Amino acid sequence: MASTASDGRPRQRTLASAVTVQGIGLHTGIPAEVRLSPAPEDHGWTLVRTDVEPPAVIPVSVRHRVETPRCTALGLRGVTVMTVEHLLATLMALGVDNVRVEVRGPELPILDGSAAGWVEALDRAGLVEQAAPRRLRRLSRSIWVGDADRFAAAMPWRDLRVSFAFISDHPGLGDQFAELTVTPETFRREIAPARTVAFAAEVGRLRAQGVGLGGSLDNVLLVADDGPVGGFRLADEVARHKLLDLIGDLALAGPLAARVVAVRGNHALTARLVEAMEQVLEGTEGKEGTDAGHR
Ligand SMILES: [Zn+2]
Repeated sequence: MASTASDGRPRQRTLASAVTVQGIGLHTGIPAEVRLSPAPEDHGWTLVRTDVEPPAVIPVSVRHRVETPRCTALGLRGVTVMTVEHLLATLMALGVDNVRVEVRGPELPILDGSAAGWVEALDRAGLVEQAAPRRLRRLSRSIWVGDADRFAAAMPWRDLRVSFAFISDHPGLGDQFAELTVTPETFRREIAPARTVAFAAEVGRLRAQGVGLGGSLDNVLLVADDGPVGGFRLADEVARHKLLDLIGDLALAGPLAARVVAVRGNHALTARLVEAMEQVLEGTEGKEGTDAGHR
């Protein structure tokens, strides 16, 4: 269990040691090497493209989001890192407050399409507590974005609880619903193993657009007209992967306590939600100590 700082709040955490992960990007097919390193208190999460000169330091923030099809990308002054969402979800869920992510390549490795490899990497690195209290961001009031067909809402809450409704008329896939309070344990068990989903009917069109060039049965859950090729890894795998993406995109707000419900959401919708949330986030409770009034 996490210990607490002298004021009773949980403490910030970083990695105990650096760890390296290699693999190809889902969309570019380009090999990348990622080094996750410890970072000081209040550093937060930063991405560093180390294969450009000078290295580009990109703070993880919705301000640096770059519109990209089918993934979440962050960039600064024309240098981007694609497909950051599975790593960010893992950092958020496992309670890693401070980390430096050095990337050689334009896209984080997709690994097996899930977050299991990122969990395994953080386990290899180990986590250590730091002296400063955690700075969990909280909402001052509820908000929502979207329209009648596709929407997402965020409400003040004591921890991070997320729900996703996957509603589809796909012949091989029913509606799926997944919901949980995000803890290291629930994330490891119920979210991290869920793989990236690709629909067979759209693979050709996406590849023609230059999307999914690194995709294969080794790193996506391929859903054909008659259902998932090779079966699901866990129940409601599609909705669970959508929750993984949702958590990763919410991480663009930083470590967060909120109740978030998404119906037919996607990366673009969550980005809109996070942008809207910036207006109602109370900043950092470690700094301002304003966590009264929330359940
Ligand atoms: Zn994903």
